[in-house]
Amino acid sequence: GSFVHSHGTKVFIKSRLDGVLDAVAQARFNEKRWVWIPDPEMGYARAHVLNELSKQDTEVELESGQVKIVQTKDVFAMNPPQFDMAEDMAELTQLNEPCVVHNLTVRFRANQIYSGLFLVAVNPYRQLPIYSDECMQSYKGRRRGELSPHIYAVADQAYHDMLHDKENQSILITGESGAGKTENTKVAIQYLTTMASKRILNKNGTVLVNQLEQQILQANPILESFGNAQTIRNNNSSRFGKFIRIEFNMQAHICGANIEWYLLEKSRVHSQSSKERNYHIFYQLLNADKAMKEELLLNDDHASQYGFLKDSQPTIEDVDDAKEYENLINAMHIMGLKKDEIRDFLRMVAAVLHLGNIALTADYSGERADVRDFSALERTCHLLGIPAQEFKKSLLTPRIKAGRDWVNQAKSPAQVMASVDALAKTIYERNFGGLVDRINRAIDCQKTTSKMGFIGVLDIAGFEIFEVNSFEQLCINYTNEKLQQFFNHNMFVLEQEEYKKERIEWSFIDFGLDLQPTIDLIEKTNPVGILSCLEEECVAPRGTDKRFLEKLNSTWVSDDPEGKYKSIRFKESFTVKHYAGQVEYSTAGWINKNKDPLNEDITRLLARSTNRHVATLFEDYLTETEHQIPNESGLPTSSSTFSLMKLRKGGGSFRTVGQRHKQQLLSLMNTLYLTHPHFVRCILPNGRKHAGEIQALLVLDQLRCNGVLEGIRICRKGFPNRLVFADFRKRYEILCPRQASTNCFVDGRSACQTLLDSLALDSEKYRIGNTKVFFKATVLAELEEIRDRK
Ligand code: ATP
Ligand code: MG
Repeated sequence: GSFVHSHGTKVFIKSRLDGVLDAVAQARFNEKRWVWIPDPEMGYARAHVLNELSKQDTEVELESGQVKIVQTKDVFAMNPPQFDMAEDMAELTQLNEPCVVHNLTVRFRANQIYSGLFLVAVNPYRQLPIYSDECMQSYKGRRRGELSPHIYAVADQAYHDMLHDKENQSILITGESGAGKTENTKVAIQYLTTMASKRILNKNGTVLVNQLEQQILQANPILESFGNAQTIRNNNSSRFGKFIRIEFNMQAHICGANIEWYLLEKSRVHSQSSKERNYHIFYQLLNADKAMKEELLLNDDHASQYGFLKDSQPTIEDVDDAKEYENLINAMHIMGLKKDEIRDFLRMVAAVLHLGNIALTADYSGERADVRDFSALERTCHLLGIPAQEFKKSLLTPRIKAGRDWVNQAKSPAQVMASVDALAKTIYERNFGGLVDRINRAIDCQKTTSKMGFIGVLDIAGFEIFEVNSFEQLCINYTNEKLQQFFNHNMFVLEQEEYKKERIEWSFIDFGLDLQPTIDLIEKTNPVGILSCLEEECVAPRGTDKRFLEKLNSTWVSDDPEGKYKSIRFKESFTVKHYAGQVEYSTAGWINKNKDPLNEDITRLLARSTNRHVATLFEDYLTETEHQIPNESGLPTSSSTFSLMKLRKGGGSFRTVGQRHKQQLLSLMNTLYLTHPHFVRCILPNGRKHAGEIQALLVLDQLRCNGVLEGIRICRKGFPNRLVFADFRKRYEILCPRQASTNCFVDGRSACQTLLDSLALDSEKYRIGNTKVFFKATVLAELEEIRDRK
């Protein structure tokens, strides 16, 4: 069972470093003082010390024979060779950056992609034989550290902790794009659906996967079709974040699930860079069966024939879009979607494709747009179930308010283009939202009245630091700042609180990791933070990106004691000091991105669509107009062409993208703070999607950004394993039978002290608290081994 309890950390204990010690390597190591020194290409290089010239400088010899003088602070001790391949990095006697990177590298080369402390997973970019059913079975209910680190072990731990502690669990998977978050999420869910379901055997004795579990598993390919795309970094990049909650009944069997999604990258729908693709579904749909394509008026199979696809890559290496389309339809059937429903979801995708083909011309003055070819527009309207003439009118000459009256104003081709793009984004996003809602209805837990709890798996993009960073990056980096704070909170705060409560001897370490100033800078309302400041500019009558930046500067440039904010006046950007590094944000277009304006004449048309699916997705626009009291002109008094107020079904009202995200993030954090978290850090080995290649500098950078290095440091300094007195005695009394026979009463504390004394454990390896004994990492593993031998 899970007798070792550690707050927020996943501790794998591997007993003693086994394997025959390579005597030659050891002898060679002993001859010299081996160290790591910085290397501009490799990250770190091996060397040995020749001379300590002064306090500042050390003379070393590299393996090449080159002699060099380096700064003493850059010289890091090396672990003896028998520590290579250590599974739990807290075991390393020398715990510095190069040693951690070296350890991950050696393990990676031996196809050991998972390592402890909390799980670190390096993307192998190849199929390893570590995800078999057999392998899964072997992790079931195993003691910590009995088997090598694995995502299965994390899932199993979460399951057991939920059972044992009656507490909700979360598995937080983070990392850069391409690091393997989604793959590990799938594997974790696969484990839970296999191990925690009621086993139904068929006549031959083989296990059948229940319908519900099947559906939970099939949610993923559906989400990937609509929410993933090929990018430079990842051929199957998730362009949204998700939190999947797996619910368990009192028998600890899965009884349902729920998916929450965050920040879908909408702009991809209308534009992609030339080495990337639009969402998979567009290309899959072009490979649909003839009947479906006919129905969706997709006469042409070539991506080059569609405005929203023509600039992108048509295919992905090793991916067959036709096969993927089949898989999608199959998954949708398993999900219980009827033929009509499937067609509805695909219809919206096709409508977006046709929308992208609407070609515009300008009139003689060049100021008024007109539609050149009516057929694309008609197709769009046919699929959306709205009248084409009205749509055209709304598109070209939407109503705006002039004084007290409403007038139709002619738009320029560029303005109409922008409104087409905005419409495409919204249709796509609402369809995506509708799809997730539909999946949730299929896998919902409503039938079960008493639940034991849930295990939530979070798969969300890590810090993004690009050449040009915009509003989208701020949203994702804000999310990561909060997640990192949660991680630190668990690693450091809870850990130290526990020591304090137990009154064990422990010098408090200030890790200087207070992320609050940066979070305040982003989310605070007083003084007005970045998001609130943007908000104010969005509702101001003449708000501009420039004014937004000026306002931000006037608030923060002088009043920022921690120096988290910087801006150079004429650069149209500001810089935020994030946990992962400084990020410069370009403020161009922020007002528009945050407002996300829509042509309201058109959304009202959509709300009245003859197609129920379409009408439902836009029904908030209908209720809005219907509930409005007409003014003298008899027309609604809402804000002219653009809608700021979007009422979402069941949700609150969000005026802007930023507000909605802040709200969603707060709700996610509230959920997470009530769970026992398990952290998984995914690492991208190289920037080329190559198997077998690992770049030390790239890895090091990620380890710094995602808190792995700090995490390891505190774990080593602290006492990650702990047992209440009674449990400790019960389990280890056997190691000291003399004591067990004592008849007289001994209090728990003294009994443990006696037991520990008789084991002759180094007193630095443990602490005795008020109710528990605390151990340094690896100690319990040693005790376990002795116990096993008894
Ligand atoms: P993004 O943020 O872009 O969504 P991600 O972290 O979710 O990135 P994945 O899509 O999980 O990255 O992984 C990228 C690719 O790397 C996968 O498509 C797969 O080819 C490969 N990969 C990742 N993890 C593994 C693994 N454990 N075994 C084999 N291949 C893997
Ligand atoms: Mg992903």
